[in-house]
Amino acid sequence: MIFKFFGGAQEVGRSAIMLKDERSLMLDFGVKIEKKMEYPASIPRVDGMILSHAHLDHSGFTPGMYSEEHPPIFGTLPTLRLSNLLLDDALSIAKKNHTNPRFHKQQVKAMIDKFIALDYGHTAHLGNFDITLYDAGHICGSSITLVERAKAKSHKRIVYTGDFKLEPQLLHNGAEIVKSDILITESTYAEKEHMDKRKTTKEFIEQVNETLDNGGNVLLPVFAVGRSQEILTLLHKNGLASSTYIDGMAKEATSIVSNFPKFISNHEELAKAIREVNWISEHSERKGVLDEPSIILTTSGMLTGGPVLNYIGRLNKNSSILLTGFQQEGTNGRTLIEKGYVTMEGQKKKIDTPVTLYDFSAHAGKSDLYEYVRKSSPSVVICVHGDKENAKSMAESLRLEGYEAYAPKIGDTIKIGE
Ligand SMILES: [Zn+2]
Ligand SMILES: [Zn+2]
Repeated sequence: MIFKFFGGAQEVGRSAIMLKDERSLMLDFGVKIEKKMEYPASIPRVDGMILSHAHLDHSGFTPGMYSEEHPPIFGTLPTLRLSNLLLDDALSIAKKNHTNPRFHKQQVKAMIDKFIALDYGHTAHLGNFDITLYDAGHICGSSITLVERAKAKSHKRIVYTGDFKLEPQLLHNGAEIVKSDILITESTYAEKEHMDKRKTTKEFIEQVNETLDNGGNVLLPVFAVGRSQEILTLLHKNGLASSTYIDGMAKEATSIVSNFPKFISNHEELAKAIREVNWISEHSERKGVLDEPSIILTTSGMLTGGPVLNYIGRLNKNSSILLTGFQQEGTNGRTLIEKGYVTMEGQKKKIDTPVTLYDFSAHAGKSDLYEYVRKSSPSVVICVHGDKENAKSMAESLRLEGYEAYAPKIGDTIKIGE
């Protein structure tokens, strides 16, 4: 059994892990969105692919696989629909910016044609591999993948967590624990516990209410897939959906998610929120939104583009900007927090509106990562999807606990068993 790492190894982004015995299987094939786009190290020939969830750091280069070869790709139906949305958007952004996305629309179509949609708990077969997906509790349709090798003498059960969260979110139950012999786990927050969720939620809602009471606007830059729906539901639960405007790709993503009640734990609440929230459909409607105290839920989450840039310079002095997701180095979100400016159309623009960052992470924190490993009870653990420090420290701690643990880097090959 061989594992080869094309991306997402000692880094967060461009997840791409190949496993190989009689057949080869690529687990995710994403991009890394920093100052410039980074892709998996190369495009190997594979017999099949798994797409754990729609986020571009997992799905962003799947079409790159479909130029000559057309391998089947397994994932859930919401993952297909949501990744289609994000890939189409990535193509239009590339066109607008005159950059080369390294794949064409036809390749997205070819990928979709080869997609095999699986419900959680159902098994598909690829040669000697039996593939079953389980709920990862991260975003709508996100999966933990079990690859079983029925004929193998040892290391029969390989589990790939993708991105997961053990603690339930408003719209998702916690991740399912899947027993494994070899566990490939994310390690994003191997060194960090998340803030207490109840406390974070309370402070967030208090700040929203305070801003509205002072006559300000609350600007909420959010990731289209996952965070938009969670925050919208949270606002609705606190009686704030009718003061909220939703704009940009957050709208399409929310519509898609609402079509998959089976893949969310609280569909009723989301449906009610969708009925109450105000949808911005025309560019011209954006102006009026800021005339009165209001909440604007819009993309992009790291302020790298999208309608959020249309709003940010026009907020009145009592307004606030609340960030609810990780802000990657080199993005407007990061310069806004650290230096108080964003860059628009090549120009630096100083932003005086106060900015607060809230930790609403959809990833497992430190103790939950270790809990998952212990309960999954593998003998071998491979730590991926974490920066160098996090991945290495997790592997090291696990070795001290008696596991055979690795934190591979890109280009590494790990051979296990026969
Ligand atoms: Zn993700
Ligand atoms: Zn990820």
